[in-house]
Amino acid sequence: DSNPYVQEMNQQCRGSPIGSMPTINENNDAILSQKLSVWCQLSNGMWASGKIQSTSGDETYVALANGNVVNVPPGQLLPANPEILDGVDDLMQLSYLNDPSVLHNLKYRFTEDMIYSKAGPVLIAVNPFKDVPLYGNNAMDAYRQKDMDWPHVYALANTVYEQMMRDGKNQSLIISGESGAGKTETAKYAMKYLAALGGGGGGMEVEMLQTNCLLEAFGNAKTLRNKNSSRFGKLIEIHFTSLGKISGAKIQTFFCEQSRVVQVGDGERSYHVFYQLCSGAPSLLKEKLNLKAATEYKYLNQSECFEIDGVDDALKFQKLQEAFDLLRICKEDQAQVFQILAAILWLGNIKFQTIDNENHVEVLADEALANASKLMKCTAQGLMVALSTHKIRAGSDNISKIKTLQQAIDARDALAKFMYGNLFDWLMEQINKLLDGNQNTWGSINILDIYGFESFKKNSFEQFCINYANERLQQHFNRHLLKLEQEEYEEDGIDWTKVDFEDNQECLDLFEKKPLGLLSLLDEESNFPNATDLTLVNKLNKHLNINPFFKGQRGRAFGVRHYAGEVVYDTNGFLEKNRDPLHSDFIQLLSSSNCKLLQSFASQKPDQTLRSLKSSLSQPGGPESSTQSVGTKFKAQLFKLMHQLENTTPHFIRCLKPNKKQLPGMYEEDLVLQQLLCCGIMEVMRIARAGYPSRMTHQEFAARYALLLPEPSEHLDPLSMSVAVLKQLNVLPEMYQVGYTKVYLRTAQIARLEEQRTKAL
Ligand code: ADP
Ligand code: MG
Repeated sequence: DSNPYVQEMNQQCRGSPIGSMPTINENNDAILSQKLSVWCQLSNGMWASGKIQSTSGDETYVALANGNVVNVPPGQLLPANPEILDGVDDLMQLSYLNDPSVLHNLKYRFTEDMIYSKAGPVLIAVNPFKDVPLYGNNAMDAYRQKDMDWPHVYALANTVYEQMMRDGKNQSLIISGESGAGKTETAKYAMKYLAALGGGGGGMEVEMLQTNCLLEAFGNAKTLRNKNSSRFGKLIEIHFTSLGKISGAKIQTFFCEQSRVVQVGDGERSYHVFYQLCSGAPSLLKEKLNLKAATEYKYLNQSECFEIDGVDDALKFQKLQEAFDLLRICKEDQAQVFQILAAILWLGNIKFQTIDNENHVEVLADEALANASKLMKCTAQGLMVALSTHKIRAGSDNISKIKTLQQAIDARDALAKFMYGNLFDWLMEQINKLLDGNQNTWGSINILDIYGFESFKKNSFEQFCINYANERLQQHFNRHLLKLEQEEYEEDGIDWTKVDFEDNQECLDLFEKKPLGLLSLLDEESNFPNATDLTLVNKLNKHLNINPFFKGQRGRAFGVRHYAGEVVYDTNGFLEKNRDPLHSDFIQLLSSSNCKLLQSFASQKPDQTLRSLKSSLSQPGGPESSTQSVGTKFKAQLFKLMHQLENTTPHFIRCLKPNKKQLPGMYEEDLVLQQLLCCGIMEVMRIARAGYPSRMTHQEFAARYALLLPEPSEHLDPLSMSVAVLKQLNVLPEMYQVGYTKVYLRTAQIARLEEQRTKAL
């Protein structure tokens, strides 16, 4: 092989066995009687490998790798795979598919920098947290020319591209995983590969790749779990012509975390772009924006975290400007963008002073107010009034009421979030206008990069929405994989109705049912002005307590039994976040602005007093969209997204985070296991093997077991030989199926056959 990448990889791949063994199923009895390799669970919960020394009754003595012999209770013993299977490409090749075996295999590969593996139809990527030699042009060529067939995001992207070209059917790459698992990087590699495949046609692949720089500046932030965490979900559609060249692209973003603009937790940062602007703006621009250092701004200094190791924000600002230029956002628009960003920072510094003992306030007329209003191109007086008073309709009159301190702070923050959210939307619009080249589209590839299931100590409205979305995606995943499974059975002519399968529809119903589902009840309660977290919880308890997927809790919390585990949600702030109102006074203020961009934010939604600050996906524009709650909008977006995905052939990538410290070379087994369970990998493999987990071609089966027949059987064809063996050994009819090409066996049948074979040898 002349490709240096292939040569290098082949050298690295010492002893990684290729090819599959017949699958044997977990059957402890067989293992115990054969003194085989096992995994035993130690008192600390970890799994250690060993070999069975002796058994008597319930006692099993196992010699561990370190030489110690331990007595292991039967429940803590699982069969291990033979060494020849160490590091297989596809976890489905493992004879024993238990937790420690899967963990061991992934770890074995991770240690060798083989970060990609397959779990049947799913690609697994374990984040290496360091540069690995897997991505150069040589690697791209190798996968393109099919010199390499190892699992890789390039290999998958190649398959997806080929399928689209062949069938003309739209494809999707669905990437999931927890924060910091590597979803966005994986999505970028997939984009790069597809850009290389589909480039050179005068298309817009260069622009498409540049969008990442912009998206990350405005949509990413440092969090405790990822230094460059995307705080929004995105779907990138790449369009191709019938010649396979890129003709355009479209980016949809959704559920952008707006609260970060005004509120940043310890050790975290707000959106990158603020720090880039503060440290990278040339002095002329700084002067124009009255810009100070990041440390001077309330919105940025509340977390006391300003820098990221190894990141030069000033340099990033230059890159951002280059990206703006490349994406043909004119200098005038760029100036407006920077102006709005600076205005947001100054808004955060605006202070209020109480004027009576009922906590009513007025705005302090200081530098912050002057700068904010100047940058927003409105009058200081106008801004002051909008921040400190609100109009209430009384009969045909408008009465002006003075806000309390908390109301004023909330209003100020709502305005900042509104401006940022609209700025983000506007940028998306500009990018999409540029990338729009849909005319000659033959097919498209969609890449979905969305945060996975989340379960923290405290879970709020954000987790509620994210987990709901993941529940939907999981259903998509299950149904698709089951379909694949059934297709194989059908093609091989066996009866597939016997496959058992669990769906999560009931949990989805808990969210979606009208009028008695979580989202509907939340909306209903959000419409009552006097509702509180407690009245919400009472309502949920009253109507949903009989639902097996709902778990009532003490206080103002409630639990949901998700496919990935039970999550307890704290309803604190649910109603506010679901309503998320922006007062009409602000709409008026922005319409009066001389900044065209700000003005357009207000005029887009003329009569809108309730706007979702959480959603930045452009709405299809239904008549009621202006008064929809955040939850309902989220659901609508999700349905639109699912509809779009359902019209594609899906391919799944599950990203795994090997350690919480974001360090290279560290593999924490319990953390990986938790993610495998959460993202449904174990479940997938279970589904994929649920019906007839073991399958062998008639040739393989006959070659291995023909010796169990009483008479020589050379005259029989492999299929007849397989049938003869099954009859001879009295395998029950419900335990197997004979297809055109393969024998399909239920759990534990291979182990029985193996036992017979061992005796016969
Ligand atoms: P997510 O989008 O899942 O939150 P990211 O894709 O942002 O996670 O990845 C987090 C960090 O992990 C990246 O900034 C990068 O440092 C590292 N990383 C992720 N994938 C890879 C990879 N394939 N190779 C090297 N480093 C990676
Ligand atoms: Mg990300």
